Amino acid sequence: MNRSRRIAVIGSGPAGLMVADGLASAGHAVTLFDKRKGLSWKLYIAGGSGLNISNSLPLDLFARHYTGPADHWKACLGAFGPQDWLDFIEQKLGIGTFLGTSQRYFVETMHAALLVRNWKRRLEELNVTITLNTLCTDFRPSDAGWELLSQERSLGSFDALVFALGGGSYETTDGLSWPSMFQQKGLGFQDFAPSNTGFEVAWPAAFLQEAEGQPIKNIQLTSARGQRKGDLVVTHYGLEGTPIYFAGMPGLIQVDLKPDLTTEQVMQRLQKSKENLSPMRRAQKYLQLSPGSKALLFHMAPPDATRDGTALAHLIKSLPLQLERPRPLSESISSSGGLLWQNLDEALMLKSHPGVYCAGEMLDWDAPTGGFLIQACISQGHWISRHLSFGGT
Ligand SMILES: Cc1cc2nc3c(=O)[nH]c(=O)nc-3n(C[C@H](O)[C@H](O)[C@H](O)COP(=O)(O)OP(=O)(O)OC[C@H]3O[C@@H](n4cnc5c(N)ncnc54)[C@H](O)[C@@H]3O)c2cc1C
Repeated sequence: MNRSRRIAVIGSGPAGLMVADGLASAGHAVTLFDKRKGLSWKLYIAGGSGLNISNSLPLDLFARHYTGPADHWKACLGAFGPQDWLDFIEQKLGIGTFLGTSQRYFVETMHAALLVRNWKRRLEELNVTITLNTLCTDFRPSDAGWELLSQERSLGSFDALVFALGGGSYETTDGLSWPSMFQQKGLGFQDFAPSNTGFEVAWPAAFLQEAEGQPIKNIQLTSARGQRKGDLVVTHYGLEGTPIYFAGMPGLIQVDLKPDLTTEQVMQRLQKSKENLSPMRRAQKYLQLSPGSKALLFHMAPPDATRDGTALAHLIKSLPLQLERPRPLSESISSSGGLLWQNLDEALMLKSHPGVYCAGEMLDWDAPTGGFLIQACISQGHWISRHLSFGGT
């Protein structure tokens, strides 16, 4: 191992916590900074809807879910992949994990509080100095390596710096001042844009009255990007849900409300009895359409089509909807854009600033929901700590 070094880690999300853990475990003197008064605020937000920590896809398929250099993802996930992360949570943080639906892993508690609390305790036991409420605004060369600054105040000099400042989602405009720190140094940066976000749909008022807040479960969505099964939620502005995040761009989509039946099977069910019922009533009765699905058909399909059994069957299998605009960054699960890869070497060190590293969602990569986001931050955090401690994996 190299001699013990003084290293500052800036940002206490999953990427920063993993870097700090790896470096402190290797014997380095680590100071962890965050501008907020608590650690890992975004993990708490992520845990609000069930903390999905990783995914059970095999590694080669897993790595294909990321934009950015394929070689990096293969190596980085290969060095510390989903199973390593699950073992870490169970053995080092003492928290159970489980495999839920759709190949996703969760922490047993579902939320982030225990994970963050136990990780903080572990970092303190590893002698990591945790400095909160401290906005880092700049860094510059010093005799000792790199000086970290908050406005004009020096936060100390360090042998190395690791930035893990997060992406653009859920932040206020004020909270996103950090890109200028890098842009001023001539480093390339792609502006953040919403990713994994809801989309606006021009709902008629009558539809909203009936369906706002309703889930539309087990659908298959077809968009320009392909097909995705899952659940949708109707909101006052449009739609949320994994299939919508996957669609990811404005345009026409088709919603299959009964993906497990063929069009012929849907037709057969609509013609099932000789009762004197309208096609819509038959659909409700023989296809068990949920209230949300029923409202979608009733309000979003041409009225003629819902009066004709064959036309209705086709609409149930392929209801067209127009996605207008994505919701803003401040409401998105993640962001695309960030510090460009061309600034970085293989170890995720800034080529122009030796000894300064960057990890996590602040870099220019994107991935879908499903545990891929947190896993990438964890794997990159581990990657940097290995390179800084041992010069590689
Ligand atoms: C609603 C929601 C649900 C989500 N659900 C999931 C999920 O279930 N599974 C999943 O994989 N991902 C999920 N994500 C995404 C996931 O939370 C992020 O991808 C992940 O937290 C990014 O980690 P990070 O370490 O890169 O940055 P972050 O977690 O964003 O941490 C960055 C830290 O840096 C600090 N910071 C920023 N600038 C400065 C500065 N200048 N000085 C000092 N400190 C600074 C911030 O305060 C922050 O604590 C969700 C996100 C949201 C918003």
